[in-house]
Amino acid sequence: MPYLYPSIQMRVTCHIMKTSLTKAQVAIIGGGPAGLMAAEVLCAQDVDVHLFDAMPSLGRKFLMAGKSGLNLTHGEAPDKFLSRFGTAQHHMESSLTNFSAKDIQAWARELGIKTFVGTSGRVFPKNHKAAPLLRAWVRRLRAEGLNVHVRHKWIGWDGDALQFETPDGPAFMKADATILALGGASWPKLGSDGAWVDPLSEQGIAIAPLRPANCGFDADWSDHIKTKFGGAPLKSVRLTFKDQIAKGDATITENGLESGPVYTLSAALRDEIEANGTAVLHIDLLPGLSEAKVIEALNRPRGKKTMGTHLKRTLKLTGAKVALLHEALDKGTFQNPVGLAQGIKTLPITLVRPRPIDEVISTAGGIEFGGLTDGFMLNAKPGVFCAGEMLDWEAPTGGYLLSACMATGRTAGEAVAQFLKD
Ligand SMILES: Cc1cc2nc3c(=O)[nH]c(=O)nc-3n(C[C@H](O)[C@H](O)[C@H](O)COP(=O)(O)OP(=O)(O)OC[C@H]3O[C@@H](n4cnc5c(N)ncnc54)[C@H](O)[C@@H]3O)c2cc1C
Repeated sequence: MPYLYPSIQMRVTCHIMKTSLTKAQVAIIGGGPAGLMAAEVLCAQDVDVHLFDAMPSLGRKFLMAGKSGLNLTHGEAPDKFLSRFGTAQHHMESSLTNFSAKDIQAWARELGIKTFVGTSGRVFPKNHKAAPLLRAWVRRLRAEGLNVHVRHKWIGWDGDALQFETPDGPAFMKADATILALGGASWPKLGSDGAWVDPLSEQGIAIAPLRPANCGFDADWSDHIKTKFGGAPLKSVRLTFKDQIAKGDATITENGLESGPVYTLSAALRDEIEANGTAVLHIDLLPGLSEAKVIEALNRPRGKKTMGTHLKRTLKLTGAKVALLHEALDKGTFQNPVGLAQGIKTLPITLVRPRPIDEVISTAGGIEFGGLTDGFMLNAKPGVFCAGEMLDWEAPTGGYLLSACMATGRTAGEAVAQFLKD
């Protein structure tokens, strides 16, 4: 018989949560998109569903994603979509097929949120906001019977009971099935701090180290770049690392480089730095012009004008782009039209480290699929399932992260429903 109980060994105040003793008790820990989606599946079953979160409110990272428009999913063909998950795609395929980009759009519509597909194929809510969607979602889940327990930080197991820290002292729950949807380790102030690694490792569960993903990088900039160009955009550039190319607007930071195209290449850059200490990224500052055209422009007579003025007049290159050319090229190359043209088309920038995990968009690594069933139940802990960013997959920005979190949350929810029937 499932029950919730205070630990008799604890001398501090404990509180007991009221539950039905006839229905199966399910604990979902983590109120982000993965946990909420698991709750959605289970609230439709004849079970008591308890959602716990360490924070005072649910979905804080989801709300943060709303600040950049809430890229919910991506409209590209399913096989291309799946390929974004690299080596993990085989493990993600079933979840992403069962809850596809189209399903996500229909789901949002049901919650009263219309979506649109942008020119890049990315899918957003029409109002670009996360709060109305989250509000409608949580309201519907509560109406369907979801019991929400905020300010409950899960710290592991006490025997076979889940153990939480709460403002009122320790709390415990013995659940018939548990879903852990605790997120990665980026932006810990939003709740997902990766503290789950220790209690799970203690249970012998294999966890690939959590690493920064979709991140910026440090470069050893001169003081000139740091002080004068930190925060400056590099508009419409093309970045190349090995055989990977990413186009868009990058940003020079005080420490190095960040933004869209840098994030796109970040997994490969991070892996290269881990393997060899640094990674050399090449920037094409004028992707619309061939190198021959750039040389032709630079060979035009410049009279007594400086090369800086010549760059501005002939190629409209100014500001941060010219500063980076000065930074990366020696004086002789900068004055030589052929060398300068090569620099403009393939400027080498050495990156020395990814930004710290607490400021990046997402986390690679997590619970290894080898220790999980197809329904994401831990082989080492029957009845405990996992979902979302805490699983060992990574993907670029583009809506793939939220899609995968919701899809794996659904899979775990369905697997729990089946587990309770078996
Ligand atoms: C700035 C930013 C912008 C982003 N924009 C996008 C975007 O536009 N599109 C996209 O696809 N992705 C985006 N992401 C990524 C996306 O938000 C995450 O991948 C997603 O929220 C992860 O979902 P999750 O449910 O696995 O974990 P989370 O959303 O991190 O939720 C985990 C929950 O678990 C709780 N928790 C953690 N540990 C404990 C514990 N020990 N006890 C109790 N509760 C605990 C946390 O408080 C949290 O509520 C963005 C991320 C950031 C940081």
